[in-house]
Amino acid sequence: MIPFIDLAAQQARIRPALDAAIARVLAHGGYVMGPEVAAFETQLAAAGGARRALSCANGTDALALPLLAWEIGAGDAVFCPSFTFAATPEVIPWTGATPVFVDILPGTYNLDPEALDAAITAVRAEGALRPAAVIAVDLFGQPADYPRLAEVCRRQGVKLIADSAQGFGCTLDGRPPIRWADVVTTSFFPAKPLGCYGDGGAVLTDDDDLWTRMDSLRVHGKAVAGDPAAGGHEPKYLNARVGMNSRLDTLQAAILIEKLAIFADEIDCRQAVAARYAAGLAGACLSVPAVIAGGVSTWAQYVIEHRDRDGLAAHLKSQGIPTAVYYPVPMHLQGPYAAFPRGPGGLPVSEAKAATVLALPMHPYLTAEIQDRIIAAVSAFNG
Ligand SMILES: *Cc1c(COP(=O)(O)O)cnc(C)c1O
Repeated sequence: MIPFIDLAAQQARIRPALDAAIARVLAHGGYVMGPEVAAFETQLAAAGGARRALSCANGTDALALPLLAWEIGAGDAVFCPSFTFAATPEVIPWTGATPVFVDILPGTYNLDPEALDAAITAVRAEGALRPAAVIAVDLFGQPADYPRLAEVCRRQGVKLIADSAQGFGCTLDGRPPIRWADVVTTSFFPAKPLGCYGDGGAVLTDDDDLWTRMDSLRVHGKAVAGDPAAGGHEPKYLNARVGMNSRLDTLQAAILIEKLAIFADEIDCRQAVAARYAAGLAGACLSVPAVIAGGVSTWAQYVIEHRDRDGLAAHLKSQGIPTAVYYPVPMHLQGPYAAFPRGPGGLPVSEAKAATVLALPMHPYLTAEIQDRIIAAVSAFNG
């Protein structure tokens, strides 16, 4: 079987550097919030074009932290796509807020700015919930339409979160999502474009006060600068807010420093792989991905569409080619989320896409030879 994502090839490339980085952590023993954590945050902020980065335990907590820091909760509406990974809507009810599902654009699978505008207006007109924030997703690695989404958010007076778990490193007109969003979040789950060897996540922001409040929240609401000092006690045991335990392990930070060093090159390699797929698959009876004008995708996934998606997947499997379906059931149709509100007009695009999408093997180390085999196998299928 061809690997769907080849993490071993990446590891082989940097194994000595990883071994040395891990050995340094074992030698100094600062397993929690050791020096690599702050060093990685500095490098990550620079890579993402933001003033600050705050690491945390996973990409889900990275979404929850800004919502909590903004004190979004009961009575608030947070708008998000339904055609996404569960983590995107999941954090909203954690805070007591209500997710409102909004449809996507058919070409890019990302949030539809007009549908978003209409949904916010409808919620405000109804009057039961206060529109508070939007979580846009850089699905499959490509930037959402941030200029238009940010215009809607500013005009409607709501915060904008960029869920860049799949898209960290993507750009639009040469600029990273933080140029438009209040915060950018990402995940270091191993299969993401920038992954570690376990769980990890981060929030990027240009807002120092927000960073400080999230720093408090990730360590049980510890007292931070600006919180009332209580008689010179150890700030670690002074709790200024109800927080959580969401730290990035020092070992993972050390590993991520080595992976970040080759990340820009890997994004370039992903462009070449995507271009070979696009050239080879043009004309086969399916659609290849469209990227927003001016956008650079990190190609977390290479997703084609076929009307006999399941037939194509079975055919490829029989040829030793793995595929995956992201996502088979949009979130608004899943049990725990089915009762939450939806934007006016519902989510017809999300529902249609769920039936046709199929992700092909995608990683920076995919060789032309293996890609030719995949392209030939897809082209040979006439479902
Ligand atoms: C993976 C992912 C997350 C969550 O990341 P974890 O690190 O697994 O918690 C959030 N949003 C999207 C779009 C993702 O793909």
